[in-house]
Amino acid sequence: MSSCIFCRLVEGGIPAKIVYQDEQALAFEDRNAQAPVHLLVIPKRHVASVQDCQERDQALLGHLLLTCSKVARMKNLAESGYRVVTNTGTDGGQTVFHLHFHVLGGRHMAWPPG
Ligand code: AMP
Ligand code: ZN
Repeated sequence: MSSCIFCRLVEGGIPAKIVYQDEQALAFEDRNAQAPVHLLVIPKRHVASVQDCQERDQALLGHLLLTCSKVARMKNLAESGYRVVTNTGTDGGQTVFHLHFHVLGGRHMAWPPG
């Protein structure tokens, strides 16, 4: 069994409220939602962060962002807007070291972030 919590989630070892998946990507509800809609979009293949992506991951990164817009549309956020965030490394506030994009919506997002 993988030591990475999101790899375990992909393997079905821990439960998740999955809203969308395809060959490369999985989208599920964040267990500690920070907005009325808070989804995480992850690659099924382990990549630690955006900083660990290589040239070969270019298509995967594009696919993950398109998946963010797809699930945002599914959650009726296309008109009202939403935020896509990928926290990277310690100063970026990353706590799970498997690449993930937060999709946050359903309320107004402040700027700058904390
Ligand atoms: P980050 O701090 O950017 O690395 O985000 C990690 C996110 O993963 C947090 O928002 C957590 O609430 C979320 N999270 C961690 N474990 C799980 C899980 N098993 N199911 C759903 N969300 C999770
Ligand atoms: Zn992983």
